[in-house]
Amino acid sequence: MIIVMSPEATEDQLAHLVEVIEGAGLKAHVSRGTERTIVGAIGNEAKIQQVPFMAIPGVESCMPIVKPYKLAGREFNKEKTKIKIRDIEIGGKEVVVVGGPCSVEPNDTLIQTARAIKKAGAKMLRGGAFKPRTSPYDFMGMAEDGLKLLADAREETGLAVVTEVMDTRDVELVYKYADAFQIGTRNAQNFNLLKEVGKYDKPVFLKRGMSMLIKEFLMAAEYVISQGNNDVIMVERGIRTFETATRNTLDVAAVAVLGVETHLPVFVDPSHAAGDHRFVNALSRASVACGCDGLLVEVHPNPEKAMSDGAQTLKFSKFEQLMDEIRPVAEAVGRSV
Ligand code: PEP
Ligand code: MN
Repeated sequence: MIIVMSPEATEDQLAHLVEVIEGAGLKAHVSRGTERTIVGAIGNEAKIQQVPFMAIPGVESCMPIVKPYKLAGREFNKEKTKIKIRDIEIGGKEVVVVGGPCSVEPNDTLIQTARAIKKAGAKMLRGGAFKPRTSPYDFMGMAEDGLKLLADAREETGLAVVTEVMDTRDVELVYKYADAFQIGTRNAQNFNLLKEVGKYDKPVFLKRGMSMLIKEFLMAAEYVISQGNNDVIMVERGIRTFETATRNTLDVAAVAVLGVETHLPVFVDPSHAAGDHRFVNALSRASVACGCDGLLVEVHPNPEKAMSDGAQTLKFSKFEQLMDEIRPVAEAVGRSV
């Protein structure tokens, strides 16, 4: 930890700080500049975290030296992590596209969509069987019946499936049917849920919380990895800003930042970012150009009739167009689709 003393700090205050640091079993390194004094607290990270430096008189600011996200951080693994889901490689040269309806519905939407997206070049199928809805009166998903439909669609098309898990009590059930877990934006800091999926050996698509800083997003990944599951895919899905023209603001810069800060693969969900089908293809092109490892896109045979998120959902022809549009962009940045 780097601790900056205020210009008015006294020698006694400095001596007290050094005492506190050493009392915590750490080493204090005092560096006296012309204007201010900087103190380095060096040693065991857990012990450093326990010292309330800002509460010590004379301390103006402090900055951690070591990034708090150790396992998720690039320092931990210089190589980019590649994740296998069935025969798909995530984090490799190919930009992997995941498509499907927002919700698994009690009709043939899912299987129709699975066939169409597969034909267009998607590698995975998405669909929520447990839906986190803002209103308690909205459709909540089909639960296990929905998971069965996902498994049936995989059986027929060979597409791997990813679906959201919202509750620690459902992790076992979702694990039984899906190839990967999805943690939604609303649960991105549900630490018990993060720890629970961290105990399983299936990849986790971790959505960014809608008000999450990138460092908090990385700490959420750290929760999963700390339990033994290294296969986390970071999903930028738009954040809340003052702008209301789109449902969320796609933080395309997060893709670039995460590419530097973490070895984990980074996906973009342009559908929840845009909230409007008219902008999904443009945001997809931008995301691929920025270097994302994949896209998570909502697709439905008839978005008008979709049971959730119809406004941002692509019909099949628009999805085919998306695939055609991202191919040259991927090639331009040394990737393929
Ligand atoms: C979803 O993928 O349908 C979903 C609810 O996403 P998010 O958690 O990003 O809102
Ligand atoms: Mn949705």
